Amino acid sequence: MNDHPQFAEALALYAMGALDDPQDLAALQAHLGTCGDCRRELDALRADVALLALSATGPQPPARSRQRLLSAIAAEPPREHKAPQRYAVGRLRPRWFSFAPIAVMLLLAVFSLLLWRDVRNTRFQLRMARTQIEQMQAEVAEKNGALEEARKIGDLLHASDAWPITLVSVKTPPQPQLKMIYSREKGSLLLMASNAPMLPDDKIYELWLLPADGGAPMPCGWFKPDKQGNGMIFHKLASAGITAKGFAVTAEPAGGSLTPTMPIRFAPAS
Ligand SMILES: [Zn+2]
Repeated sequence: MNDHPQFAEALALYAMGALDDPQDLAALQAHLGTCGDCRRELDALRADVALLALSATGPQPPARSRQRLLSAIAAEPPREHKAPQRYAVGRLRPRWFSFAPIAVMLLLAVFSLLLWRDVRNTRFQLRMARTQIEQMQAEVAEKNGALEEARKIGDLLHASDAWPITLVSVKTPPQPQLKMIYSREKGSLLLMASNAPMLPDDKIYELWLLPADGGAPMPCGWFKPDKQGNGMIFHKLASAGITAKGFAVTAEPAGGSLTPTMPIRFAPAS
């Protein structure tokens, strides 16, 4: 224990670097210049402060150092010593100082908590970013896939050996089809039939032009389908420039008729 307990508080504060009253500081420094006991006490206190700071993260501060600091702070200045009695600050600062290790541990706990929350937030953000990147990669891959397919379809359509084939229901018999071309200017027409139904030996298919002016149907030739149902008419009208509103094909007696016999067997697709 120090022989000059009236300096205990000032020494403790001085050891912590917390003695900031200029008068107290000057008085203590003047005393330290002449008193070896107080200098040794100051060295011990400084060592204690360092120990307390080091052990703040541990489960307990070293009891001996803590006790020595606390008793130094709590020591009453003796009456016989005539040193200045001006350490009014002592009531606040030593109390604060005795809680310092707890405050340091609290600070560390708060710091650790903030750090942990920071790490957790960073991990969450990383996970979000990774999910977004994966989504974008999937979208790009999808678009690339669609473009690539469109390009391949284009390649096929433009291939020099592209072979268009129409597939129909295998249970449907081949549909009769009559294709024809009429030129009003030339006054001529061409008809080509395929899969036309067979007719009795004494019947033929006859083609009629229905004039736009409402005149009577004009006979335009006839054909008799062969075994495959194929047939052809090439016909030149008596005069050119006749506007047709339609055409019709009927079944007529061999040799043809001058007026159509109902029903109409074929008519233009509407
Ligand atoms: Zn002294």
